[in-house]
Amino acid sequence: MKKNILLIIGPCAAESREQIAASIKEVKKRKLDFMRINLWKPRTRPGFEGLGKMGLPLIADAAKKGVNPAAEVILPKHAEMIIKTTLDASKTANVMLWIGARNQNHYIQQEIARVVKGEKRAFLMIKNQPWRSIDHWEGIIDHVVHAGISTDQLYVCHRGFTPQGENNPLNLRNIPDFEMAMQMRNKLKLPMIFDPSHIGGTVENVIKVSNEAAKYSFDGLIVEVHPNPLKAITDAKQQLTWDQFDKLSRPIAS
Ligand code: PEP
Ligand code: MN
Repeated sequence: MKKNILLIIGPCAAESREQIAASIKEVKKRKLDFMRINLWKPRTRPGFEGLGKMGLPLIADAAKKGVNPAAEVILPKHAEMIIKTTLDASKTANVMLWIGARNQNHYIQQEIARVVKGEKRAFLMIKNQPWRSIDHWEGIIDHVVHAGISTDQLYVCHRGFTPQGENNPLNLRNIPDFEMAMQMRNKLKLPMIFDPSHIGGTVENVIKVSNEAAKYSFDGLIVEVHPNPLKAITDAKQQLTWDQFDKLSRPIAS
């Protein structure tokens, strides 16, 4: 049976009111589950780190227009601000927060989970850490569950592991481990979302890894799509156009 997969789609980072307004229209047209409206960006080197608090009105705009926001939270106060903004703006909108690959401080992970806990319209997605270790990845889930969040509020996301000199003919940005992701999914009984954008690193590779991932039982996709990818401030090479997204392979297995 074909299942409904969860789709979290939108630009790498929120950049401007115009960019978010254009994205909201496309997300609404396709009735997607969540839209990426990312206000805080971990960066390898100092640079554009996101709109931060200044971007909260964009979250409110989306929620008012019936679009559910999704965003990375680096600190507990980010989770507080995004949840409050969404709930104040709309009586029905849901909000997806995620802990990114680089945010590997378990005190902070637990604090974020405490903020999300008990808020029925808020969900938390745990991305894998950058280095390959199923034990560490499971440990993050253990930490947030230990902090009291309900497993009904939890999602897991595979975004690949930093290349460590292994065979990488496509020159992927991060190396997927599909078997590990499926092992986690079966053991934890949590929905497993796939992130082809941060694995692929280029549009061509995003399409290729999505074709590969379609053979596995992922429960959803998080994909970077930008109204004008070449002008994107962050991750310009990997962001799809809406046409490219419409043609992207999607997991169909149950
Ligand atoms: C992101 O999804 O915006 C992101 C930074 O991804 P990751 O934490 O997987 O690097
Ligand atoms: Mn990105």
